[in-house]
Amino acid sequence: MLDCHCHLDLYTAPSAVARRAEAAGVFTIFVTNSPSAYQQSRTHVARHARVRLALGLHPLLAEQHLSERKAFEALAHQTSFIGEVGLDFSPDGKATSDIQQESFAFVLRVLANQPKFISIHSRRAEARVLELLRQAKRTPVVFHWYTGPLNVLRSAISDGHYFSINPAMVRSPKGQKIVATIPRDRILTETDGPFVTIGSRQAEPTDVGLVEDYCGRLWQMPGIEARAIVSDNFRRLIAPLQNDGRQKDAL
Ligand code: MN
Repeated sequence: MLDCHCHLDLYTAPSAVARRAEAAGVFTIFVTNSPSAYQQSRTHVARHARVRLALGLHPLLAEQHLSERKAFEALAHQTSFIGEVGLDFSPDGKATSDIQQESFAFVLRVLANQPKFISIHSRRAEARVLELLRQAKRTPVVFHWYTGPLNVLRSAISDGHYFSINPAMVRSPKGQKIVATIPRDRILTETDGPFVTIGSRQAEPTDVGLVEDYCGRLWQMPGIEARAIVSDNFRRLIAPLQNDGRQKDAL
């Protein structure tokens, strides 16, 4: 199983969550929101063979970006996994949209010509994210929790990008429409834990099973076959990272 977008450091007991994920056989990409959070999180992942730490620069923390960009650049070679990065033009992020765009362009410049897994936040800024990816000739990336318009989604699909789907998406009518639009060879699974909730509890990596089951119903196959498709998709996506000698250890 794959949880390719989980904020392990934001749970009360990160190690316990990571242990349960490992025990269930989930491969977890632990996204961070800043280079400082990335550095502080190393201790959480050290003992877990199936957890990978991703370096992030979250758009809603744009006020910190000027002081964090240098650290992002310095750390980028340490990991094959990048996220959470991107843009947020919702009311929460509108005021910092200029800084965010500079930062995202900076991130794409830093990563130029390096194969990376990149998990992207694009709330209310989907078209602009796609445009900056095109300018940087960066493909494929993973759009995490895509909630934008279907026409932009179709453009992102035709550009070759992937999409990580979480339990909140498969229970909302809008999310279901989005999942149905994405070809099955571009679907990945995530929880965005602890932000996504299942009833009254926080989602954990093992909850990607809910997304597998939903996709199984949609594709008219057992959930376990949907899981195999997601796993193939992930392997195809990260193959260039594995073939890149410079980053073998980090992977
Ligand atoms: Mn997130």
